[in-house]
Amino acid sequence: MKAINISEIIDNTKGKLIQGNKEALIKSISINSKSVDEEGLFIPLIGEKFDAHDFVNDAYKNGCKTFLKDKNHDFNFNSEDINIIEVEDTTKALGDIARLYKEKFLINYVAVTGSTGKTTTKDMIYSVLSSEYNTLKTEGNFNNHIGLPLTIFKLKDEHQCAILEMGMSSFGEIEYLSNIVNHKIAVISNIGLSHIENLGSQEGILKAKLEITKNFTKDNTLIINADDEHLKTLKNKELNYKLKTFGFEKDNDLYCVEYKMNETGIDFECIVHNQKEEFFIPARGKHNIYNAMAAILTGIELGLNINQIKKGLLNFRNGKMRLDILKTDTFEIINDAYNASPDSMKAALDILGEYKQNRKISILGDMLEMGEYAESGHELVGEYAVGNSDLIITVGKDSKHIGNGAMKKGFDQKNTIHFNSNEQVIDYLKNILEKDDVVLIKGSRGMRMEEIVNFLNDYK
Ligand code: ATP
Ligand code: MG
Repeated sequence: MKAINISEIIDNTKGKLIQGNKEALIKSISINSKSVDEEGLFIPLIGEKFDAHDFVNDAYKNGCKTFLKDKNHDFNFNSEDINIIEVEDTTKALGDIARLYKEKFLINYVAVTGSTGKTTTKDMIYSVLSSEYNTLKTEGNFNNHIGLPLTIFKLKDEHQCAILEMGMSSFGEIEYLSNIVNHKIAVISNIGLSHIENLGSQEGILKAKLEITKNFTKDNTLIINADDEHLKTLKNKELNYKLKTFGFEKDNDLYCVEYKMNETGIDFECIVHNQKEEFFIPARGKHNIYNAMAAILTGIELGLNINQIKKGLLNFRNGKMRLDILKTDTFEIINDAYNASPDSMKAALDILGEYKQNRKISILGDMLEMGEYAESGHELVGEYAVGNSDLIITVGKDSKHIGNGAMKKGFDQKNTIHFNSNEQVIDYLKNILEKDDVVLIKGSRGMRMEEIVNFLNDYK
């Protein structure tokens, strides 16, 4: 990390120095008292279940010399070289320091949000950009008011651009993150049903996601999937920034005309600048063509040529537990246990449906945080599973509506079964699994569906 002066921190957090030296330099930032160092700053955050001010002594014992604290906590260390800065709120200060730090790097920033596919889109954009530029990306899912600042502290002089994921569950969160990053380009993957409980409607979700354009002017670009019925409405609006669209329809800046799914990935053809171009991504599922198109447009916006973009896409690797296809001696497992929303459930069922020879089993867990849409959202997935799945096993609470949805569409009741726990599913599987079955496993993060994947991986 590039050094920051304590006086810069004080100015940017509206803080005050309680003890120490304003000219001291900070060379790392940590929110974990175990991973602090002599030249670093310890920021004690307060969460629902913890207050890291309780760990300032640990941080001190581990060698830390500079501390943030909020005004409700008092501590001091009887040593001359200790610096303590008081701020209103340590979590907000983390964001303020990230903004200050980010401004030291005049590079191109890209922000990605959307209901589903943010991490995948971000990773695909990273593959494209890093074919030519030294690029920083959000690791894993560090996409909130804590993860995003921590990602920004990883910026180094050699970086030429940064691609950051922004997640949210209610209004104001994307605006908060956007004010830190002030990105040049934003990408919105889609408007689904995730977090609808807090946002009221899909229009509400669209509005919340559009906070990503909060600081935009004519020099900024928003890239959207225009096959999404909510995002599409932006095409008819007068906007004070550039809009670039992709989809399968002709009236887009980039559109896909043909694709072929095979064992190792997807070959697809797009029209870019009136020219037909062939691309390949080493990932399955039609939704990944959308993610790739977002990456192609981002690459173009940042000055890459088509060959550089094609080369970059080849380097994409799907994240762990996201449509990870595992072959054991006995079965084929589609491990999509990372998370679930109705859109990503459909995307995964499409892939299961592509298997023609084998018995197709879907093991589907609850999609959480769907509020009043819980019943209809799960039913919808059930309807979609018909034709894509021969046996539907559901686990949890709301997921029993998946079975109901399937039966509404004529699915035979004896081919759908519901359980309350992963253990019960595992016991059931032991009796019914056959060689060459293809098994899809998917549910929300809280359902810990990887327990079933682990069982299948070891089962012979
Ligand atoms: P989170 O809210 O947890 O950060 P996310 O938006 O980052 O999720 P991913 O982790 O990329 O989403 O993907 C979640 C699931 O959605 C995976 O199962 C993935 O295969 C699927 N998926 C990825 N991209 C799309 C897309 N464009 N449309 C629908 N489903 C998608
Ligand atoms: Mg994510």
